[in-house]
Amino acid sequence: MAADLTLPVSRTTRSDRTNAVQPSPLNWNRMDDEDVVAGLIQIGREFHARGWSLGTSSNYSVVLQREPLELLVTASGLHKDQLQVGDFARIRADGKPINDVQPKSSAETMLHVVLAHRPDVGAVLHTHSVWCTLLSDVEFAQRAIRIAGYEMLKGLAGITTHDTEVNLEIFENTQDIAALAQQVDQRLADAERPLQHAFLLRRHGLYTWGRDLAEARRHVEIIEFLLECEGRRRSLMLV
Ligand SMILES: [Zn+2]
Repeated sequence: MAADLTLPVSRTTRSDRTNAVQPSPLNWNRMDDEDVVAGLIQIGREFHARGWSLGTSSNYSVVLQREPLELLVTASGLHKDQLQVGDFARIRADGKPINDVQPKSSAETMLHVVLAHRPDVGAVLHTHSVWCTLLSDVEFAQRAIRIAGYEMLKGLAGITTHDTEVNLEIFENTQDIAALAQQVDQRLADAERPLQHAFLLRRHGLYTWGRDLAEARRHVEIIEFLLECEGRRRSLMLV
């Protein structure tokens, strides 16, 4: 069903609010298109408050339908703590907008599109935290950050024990998003060792995804926690 981007985010009216009636909280596990927009707006505020989406950095997307593929992507150049209902573009499988009467989508839209082509990806969240920015550079020589043994790893889809390790791959940063999208697509299609959960861009940020927006949001929280642990651990070892 097409997202009606003119719908108000909150279902409460001004008089509701003056009567102190609170909007019902989002059900992250069962979202219609209106909830998806509200969810992305909420994520923008949350991630800005956590320092993961400052300034106009970051971009987010959700798959709205599969056949044919369409996804909703944040518009380009907006402060993520100030997103409004109309600040999203509906994008086709080729990365083009479904019509011309939409804001321009993020410059990194094609990265969202190659991820959205995977049947198990329903939402993609890209953030620019301090720890992702620093560690993606410090560990670039290995092209990956190894994260092992933490209980919080169980927050990543498919992981059931702390006794495991995840290698978060790091790609060189570039302004050639088409070339980077092709590179990421090849790694996603690697039958033996496909990219899972997330990757980093050097001195830039994190891309993570999930079956739906709830899972992608959880993955950002888990990976940010784990990278902060790794970053702080390295700092402690220096003193
Ligand atoms: Zn970015």
